[in-house]
Parts: sequence; C-alpha cells; structure tokens
Amino acid sequence: MSQPNSAAQSFRAIDVIRKKRDGVELTAHEIGSLVNAYTKGDVPDYQVSAWLMAVVLRGMTRAETAALTDAMLHSGEVLDLSSLSAKKVDKHSTGGVGDKTSLVLAPLAAAAGVAIPMISGRGLGHTGGTLDKLEAIPGFNVNLSVSDFRRVLETCGCAMIGQTAEIAPADRKLYALRDVTGTVESPYLICASIMSKKLAEGIDALVLDVKTGSGAFMKSEKDAAFLAELMVETGERMGKRVIALITDMDQPLGNMIGNALEVVEVVDILRGGGPEDLRELCLHLAGWMLYLGGASKTIAEGKQISERLISSGKALERFRKMLELQGGDVRSIDNPKKLPQARHTTTVVSPRTGYIASMQCEQIGTACVILGGGRERKEDSVDPSVGIVLHKKVGDRIEAGEPIATIHYNEDSRAERAKQLIVQSCEVAERPPSHKRPLIHRVIGKAGENV
Ligand code: URA
Repeated sequence: MSQPNSAAQSFRAIDVIRKKRDGVELTAHEIGSLVNAYTKGDVPDYQVSAWLMAVVLRGMTRAETAALTDAMLHSGEVLDLSSLSAKKVDKHSTGGVGDKTSLVLAPLAAAAGVAIPMISGRGLGHTGGTLDKLEAIPGFNVNLSVSDFRRVLETCGCAMIGQTAEIAPADRKLYALRDVTGTVESPYLICASIMSKKLAEGIDALVLDVKTGSGAFMKSEKDAAFLAELMVETGERMGKRVIALITDMDQPLGNMIGNALEVVEVVDILRGGGPEDLRELCLHLAGWMLYLGGASKTIAEGKQISERLISSGKALERFRKMLELQGGDVRSIDNPKKLPQARHTTTVVSPRTGYIASMQCEQIGTACVILGGGRERKEDSVDPSVGIVLHKKVGDRIEAGEPIATIHYNEDSRAERAKQLIVQSCEVAERPPSHKRPLIHRVIGKAGENV
C-alpha cells in the first residue's frame, strides 16, 4: 500500500475524520493512508478514535469496507503457502459460548487432505476463544514463528496459532483502541478486522460461522445476516471462495463451557461421541470445508467423509499429531485428568418442575468468565480448569431439585455469583417451547449456489 510521495505528503488525518463525520465516502487512498500512518505511529490514538466513532455512526460503503480490509491486510505479512499442493481453507466463528468447533475441524479437515492454517483469537467478552482452549492442554504452544507454523502445517496438514506481530499489525492496534473507545460494535469494523487476519493466512477459501441469538454479538438474525453478507462480499472481492453459515447461539453449543472441559468434549467428538448439536454443527462445517477444499464433490459427501474419518480414528490421530508438533501433552487425550482440574464442584438445581423454555446464553458465558474461565479485564489471566457442565438444554424436562448444571470452581465467592447467574438465565416453564430453533438458520454466499 505504498503511496506516491506527493500524495503521502498531502494526507491529513483531520480531513479524513471530517469527511467521514459528514457522511462523505472516503477513497481507498485516504483509508490506506490513515491505516498506514496509524500502524507506523504517525497518527495519534485520539485522531483514530474520532475516526472510528465516525465510522460507527455513519457506517461504510462496500468499497470503503473493502479498502479498509485491504489496507489492514497489507499492513503486515501475507503468508505465501503456494508451495503446499493442498487447497488451504479456514473456518472462523464470530464468537459464542461452548463453541469449540475449531479444535475438532482443523484435524478433521486435515485428515481429509485439506490444509488448515488457522490463526485464532482469545476469548472476547462473554465468549470463549480458541487460543485459551488450546492453552488448557499442558505445553501446547500457540506462539509459533511463521516458519514453525509452516513446518507444522506441512507435516500434519493443520496448525493453530495466535496472531503474530507480523500478521495484520494494524488490526492489533485498531482492535485494542476499539476495545476501549466503544467502537467494537460496527459490522464494517468487525468485517475488516476478521477478514484482514483471515486473508493474511494465504487461504483459498473460508467458511464463516456467524452466530445469532442470546449468546452472540449479533443477537438478531437480521444483524447476523448483514455482517455475513458484508464478510462474504469482502472475501469474494479479494478472489476467495467464502461461505457464511448463520448458526444458532441462543443456548451454549454442546454441554461443556470452560477451557479444559471443552477440550474433553472435543476429544469426545473426535472419538465419535459427544453431544448431538455439537457433532451436527462440526459435521456440517466440515462438509463445507471439504467441499471448498476440493476433498468432496458435495457438502453431503464432505459430511460422510468426515463421519468416516471420525469413526476410523483418523481425525483423532491427526489431533494427536498436531498436539505432538506444537508441544502439547498428548496424554491428556487418553486421560482427561492430565488436563487442569478445578478443586471443587457444586450443582445448580432447578427451583421448579417443568421444561427448560429458554437460556440467556450470554449470562451463562458471563458465569464462566466470573469463575475465572475468561477475562473481566484485559490484564486478567485465565483459569483453564474452571467451567460449567450443562445437564439440561432447551426443551428438556426437569424436576424441582434436579441439577441443571455442575460448576467446576476454585473460589467459593466466584462459584456463588456464577450459580446465581445460571439459575437466573434458565427459564423453567410448564410446557416446552412450541418452536425449536434450527441449528443452521441460513447459508450466505455464491460458493453455496447450485450445491
Ligand atoms: N473478532 C475479531 O477478530 N474482530 C472483531 O472486530 C470482532 C470479533
């Protein structure tokens, strides 16, 4: 994104801020200049904060969103993985509670012959993060250099790391600033943030899992669909095959919430067990990854291949290999006691008999954060051992005094607060809900046409 000298000299951040404030469309050159200057430290935080707030209030056109994504993408290294013959595919979720699908999907799709270079994030707000879950496995190193990342990918077909200083540095800076200036919740900024990181991975195709419901950032299906369309269009403009699945996050995914507990559930799924909703979503997302990665002719065939890779043990074998290569203790696969264990457990019981009519999913995610499984402040460290095991999901019958959940905890005061939140978040009614929300609401993207 280098600019001719004369143009670079004529750039003034104040002009770009005023233009956005007044609702005038910015050029790609203006957006690129602002992002470049900010990444280099030539524009102060206060000016970029003002610009971000103007974006939140005024929005962006598709061309502006594409220009912002492009500028952030090229603020750092874009991996060249063309030496790998397999198609490179990734999956990204917009964040949820109990969403551990990435840990299942990377080894599963790799076992089918698709290369999965996955750069993931940490927990954000009430949602869990893939990196925090991986770090619950003793020794697992998410901070590989780009060359080690490439070596693991070449050896086992998948590698999972965190954002490095070289990849999309503009997003690192902008994200930290958004977090403290009330400017996270803009679909345009979320789109540029997610897509710049994903496109820097050197992928051919991307499967987006855009969550909707009480545990998602986009609570309404309309908002989720808007973000999905924006991300799909931005990826397609850059020549990638992108598909977005709008999936349900009105209750936690699976039964386990909390980093080490979620690793246990991942292994259950890779062994052919685990809860039905999690298994179904993993197979569906894997079907798409295999299809876009050229390992199946249809989504249905991709699902069947994935089922076979699970029942033959090949997907679990691949997970074991990735752990070995990234320094994780492989014994934790066969013996969950090797994972961090909380000192105490307690149950949360239903105050009445009836059916679970709804769950306030964000509150359940927050309960896990309160236990120490996520961060209340940026500087907090995460306790990998704590979490929640749900015994009931929406629609289930429950008797008064029967456990809704078991809490794994280390501090009494935290357990008490989490317990209250879980009780409040579960509505018990006389009848089950009349309408069962689908697991997959919609599929958005040209890659899904004629499939
Ligand atoms: N995840 C990201 O990486 N960026 C956002 O802006 C929101 C969620």
